[in-house]
Amino acid sequence: MSTEQGRIGRRGVLSWIGRIAAGSAVAVWQPGIFARAATAKSQPPQRIVVLDPGHGGLDPGAIGITGSYEKDITLSTAELAATLLESTRRYKVVLTRRDDEFIALEDRVARARAARGDLFLSMHADAIPDSGVRGASVFTLSEHASDAEAAALAQRENRADLIAGIDLSRHTPEVSSILLDLARRQTNNQSIVLARKLVTELGRDVRLLNNSHRSAGFVVLKAPDIPSALVELGCLSNKDEEKQLRIATYQKKLAGSILRSVNDYFDQLGAA
Ligand SMILES: [Zn+2]
Repeated sequence: MSTEQGRIGRRGVLSWIGRIAAGSAVAVWQPGIFARAATAKSQPPQRIVVLDPGHGGLDPGAIGITGSYEKDITLSTAELAATLLESTRRYKVVLTRRDDEFIALEDRVARARAARGDLFLSMHADAIPDSGVRGASVFTLSEHASDAEAAALAQRENRADLIAGIDLSRHTPEVSSILLDLARRQTNNQSIVLARKLVTELGRDVRLLNNSHRSAGFVVLKAPDIPSALVELGCLSNKDEEKQLRIATYQKKLAGSILRSVNDYFDQLGAA
């Protein structure tokens, strides 16, 4: 992402797309106007951060060597992160689940979109065959996987109200596809910014896997209009890390890293 894009911010871009879609703006990029609009506001609006504690209910997620359930670790860490984020008053936090509830992956994305999330963070704890490996890692959606899935999501939702209130059904398929692609590219760029912040901040506090930022076709990362990342808080398949992941002070450390990442993310966008 260029510095210029970083200054303009996501809402500026979406607003620009929206105005073109509504026929009220010429299709010429004018970088300065959104930056000025953002700095003119004295009281920035609260951002909506959606935290998604992985698994729940019948689905325990990964099970640790001594029997810890991933679904419990993700929920308690998400709750700690929510408390920290809300204490800044910069954010309103929405949890996709607040108790031991099973939620389908698509429903998690739907909840994030219904909440009009500005950012979506899915939280997990991995189990891998090599019990000697430990460390946190962060995922974003792979560029390749996102095309077909974003298109399918658009199809399911009849292309209505998909991007910041723009009714794509009013446009020809060609225009809709261009608008969707613009929004998705912007979202992907911002997701990568978010993931890099997470890797940096987690790396200050906890051990990371060697390849700490990866991309994959996770269903929960497929909202075309919400920057999203998935964090694996650590490996439950490693005895020492499982022990740490169960402890509240360690979970607080992870929550603190998430708070700093989210702060940095919105600071960089210049939109918070
Ligand atoms: Zn998981």
